[in-house]
Amino acid sequence: MQSISPEIIFRGNNAWEKALPQIIKLIKSPLILGRSLYTRKLRSKIFRDLKSQKLKVNSAELQFDCCYEDIANVKKIIINNNHDSVIAAGGGKVLDSGKYIAELLDIPCVTVPLSASTCAGWTALSNIYTKNGQFIKDVSLRSCPKLLVYDHKFIQTAPSRTLASGIADALAKWYESSITSSTIDDGLVQQAIQISRVLRDQLLIDGEKAINGGFENNSSWRNTIEACGLTAGLVGGIGGEKCRTAAAHAIHNAITQIITPNKFLHGEIVGVGLLLQLKIEEMKNSNKLADQSIKQLLVLMKELNLPTTISDLGINVFENQNLEKIADFTCRDQSEIHFLPFEIQKKDIIEVIANFEQQKIKI
Ligand SMILES: [Zn+2]
Repeated sequence: MQSISPEIIFRGNNAWEKALPQIIKLIKSPLILGRSLYTRKLRSKIFRDLKSQKLKVNSAELQFDCCYEDIANVKKIIINNNHDSVIAAGGGKVLDSGKYIAELLDIPCVTVPLSASTCAGWTALSNIYTKNGQFIKDVSLRSCPKLLVYDHKFIQTAPSRTLASGIADALAKWYESSITSSTIDDGLVQQAIQISRVLRDQLLIDGEKAINGGFENNSSWRNTIEACGLTAGLVGGIGGEKCRTAAAHAIHNAITQIITPNKFLHGEIVGVGLLLQLKIEEMKNSNKLADQSIKQLLVLMKELNLPTTISDLGINVFENQNLEKIADFTCRDQSEIHFLPFEIQKKDIIEVIANFEQQKIKI
């Protein structure tokens, strides 16, 4: 069974207003789920709009992350108040929590991404973390959300850092899917890989203009937010699990195990993982193109002010056995690193990361 996309998608300016009649037909007493202070104003608007349509609405906030503690709390609120649906309005953690809780209770989920930082508004997947943001596991869900509202006016209110993060996460699709899945003899998988190539090309062309060109009449901005929030999800939907992740996400998951005072966004960490994946390909697979890709990506990542090394993420790998810990988690049995078409051992990861962190990378 494969769930390729949300059942209904509204996108563009005022997509929320256009979606309202459909939402009212579908649900009568939703719980609106969110997290950050930044999005409280938008969530209040969503609340008021639904209330004025005579829906029985309530709202709740995640205290920590997409973690079992928050999931249990929100589940209890929904059961105690007889809510018939979840409207998840926020970034990836909120969207993933909403989808997961809705699946547990067998009720519909409406996703309303409030930034372009991930494609979580689209996918049939939730990433579960600890309260402190350490990755635990991916959970495949039975289906994508019932309804996705991708309102450009909402996305405009997000800090530009979230878009830069979304670009890094979406760029990884091509590098991860092409290396893991190019030998799979399945037309849909091959087509998904090709979509991720076009997606990467668009981001290389439009990414910088999207960040620096403002919102008004900026087709680069529109194309980029939709690439990050929609197309990246479509690639995962069509291509399935192996089209989603490889070393870049495996390294992301490992880096989150090190708790730091400053929180970094998912795509910011994935971007660093992507550069390291390309280094691994160069070393273990004699991929001569990998070095060119690194140089090309570094230009864009610097323009977008994205971190490019683990030390940029506030972690010294040469302290507290951090390098060992990251290599251990990257190479654990269930890690996506093993989707690579060549064998990877802990010592390879240690070597690549140590070299990468020691060198001052020159563009
Ligand atoms: Zn990701």
